[in-house]
Amino acid sequence: MTAYIALGSNQGDRELNLLRGVAELGKLPRTRVTALSAFYETEPVGGIPQADFYNAVAQINTELSPLHLLDELQRIESGIFKRTKDLHWGPRPMDLDILFYNDAVITGERLTIPHPRLHERRFVLQPLAEIAPDLVHPLLHKSVAQLLATLTSSERVEKL
Ligand code: ADP
Ligand code: MG
Repeated sequence: MTAYIALGSNQGDRELNLLRGVAELGKLPRTRVTALSAFYETEPVGGIPQADFYNAVAQINTELSPLHLLDELQRIESGIFKRTKDLHWGPRPMDLDILFYNDAVITGERLTIPHPRLHERRFVLQPLAEIAPDLVHPLLHKSVAQLLATLTSSERVEKL
């Protein structure tokens, strides 16, 4: 299975956190990292005043199920990065979101795939377009490159 993981950090050493996050993805059982975007510094969205984020997107190849993958990502967030129950959309040392999992469409209590807000987030689409411009959104039927081209939000996203 091919999945895309968005990584974000705006607490602590943000670059080191992204590097560690990618390393932890690579250490997951039956999983390897197969592509990685550049790192971006991005303006936070959602209204809560907070520090700028570092963001990146990784492509992984995994035999973990979507829910098992979510379990592992949450274990990394809380276990490695000591992320606590915090403000929704607030500051965090590490946020790991599943963007796509093959062309699966999942609507569950814990997990929605494709990630419901990915198409309106420049900080996701820009790194994703680097490694998967032709990937087609299974619900919107548009490629990542097309979604990026038609994006209206103008938050600052700067390649490092
Ligand atoms: P956000 O990433 O939107 O800022 P959180 O990281 O706090 O918010 O995630 C809140 C919840 O989102 C998690 O408990 C998780 O169960 C749920 N969730 C739903 N879909 C996904 C997904 N595709 N990837 C990661 N988490 C998801
Ligand atoms: Mg998250």
